[in-house]
Amino acid sequence: MEKDERKEKMKEIKDEILGLMESPLFDYRSKNKYFPVIGEGSHHAKVMFVGEAPGENEARTGKPFCGRAGKILDELLGSVSLPRSEVYVTNIVKDRPPGNRDPLPEEIAIYAPFLDRQIEIIKPKVVATLGRYSMAYILNKFGVAEAGEPISRLHGRIFDVETPSGGLKIVPLYHPAVAIYNQQLKPILIEDFRVIKTLI
Ligand code: URA
Repeated sequence: MEKDERKEKMKEIKDEILGLMESPLFDYRSKNKYFPVIGEGSHHAKVMFVGEAPGENEARTGKPFCGRAGKILDELLGSVSLPRSEVYVTNIVKDRPPGNRDPLPEEIAIYAPFLDRQIEIIKPKVVATLGRYSMAYILNKFGVAEAGEPISRLHGRIFDVETPSGGLKIVPLYHPAVAIYNQQLKPILIEDFRVIKTLI
């Protein structure tokens, strides 16, 4: 796929999400003058990070991980010298759920096909999931036998799967926001980011 073709296909995704009136989050977005958060970074990234859903800062700006969790993500990327501009960062759910509640199954169901298309466009070597919702979705999507096991057992492990465009490595990670409330998880996150660095 040519460079501009990737850009065009991403634009199609953006336009479809902008008009996604059937989403249960569409009215909430409109009423609050929020933006959907499609994703940000290189369309040729080797690593794609998949979070849960935009928070308030993200919905106001349309940019993923630009609040407190984003600051931690930046630190973690910095710890392995990975510039944010070289990776792609997105979420499974593209609109903000009210009050930062966990995404509902029907919200994941409506937005996940867009994530599938983003993975097909970018063809990353590594998909690193941030938190248990994106972990569960991605592991199930690619038929990983361990899907359903807790994140405490799966984080930092490498799962090799096949896609129509070749091999893909999935690395589940804790959500960076956990380090805001539990400082003990920060060194674990740093260790898991080192795992990603060895794969690219
Ligand atoms: N948390 C997420 O999962 N995604 C964001 O974009 C911001 C916070």
